[in-house]
Amino acid sequence: MTSVKEQIEAEAKDWIDRRRDQKMLLNPWATLHAICWVGSDGAKKEGYSENLAEFVAASKLAVGMNKIDQMLNQRDHCSYCGTRFRVENLSLCRCGNVYCYKCIWNLGIHPNGNRACYCGGEVVG
Ligand SMILES: [Zn+2]
Ligand SMILES: [Zn+2]
Repeated sequence: MTSVKEQIEAEAKDWIDRRRDQKMLLNPWATLHAICWVGSDGAKKEGYSENLAEFVAASKLAVGMNKIDQMLNQRDHCSYCGTRFRVENLSLCRCGNVYCYKCIWNLGIHPNGNRACYCGGEVVG
């Protein structure tokens, strides 16, 4: 099972090792997911490094608040039931799957307490 913490910690380390190369920052969707992950119960339980926090903040800055707001305002279909919601009201996985407030209860639980996506990733937000 993929741990978001391990994944982003590794990406943050690479980014710092490459002198904070802008090209190594997260793409817009992964940034949105990372922002939600940092605020998740699983992240609170596992904890994360200053590097990870800095990496997510730098990615957020690079993507820009306009783009983030735009993504949250878009509508998307719940990957489970197909109902359309604003992304703001959906929970998301980095793989691109999104789940509505009803369907999230059908998902398994990741070891850190977050909901687990069918891809093995963590559903947050
Ligand atoms: Zn649903
Ligand atoms: Zn997924």
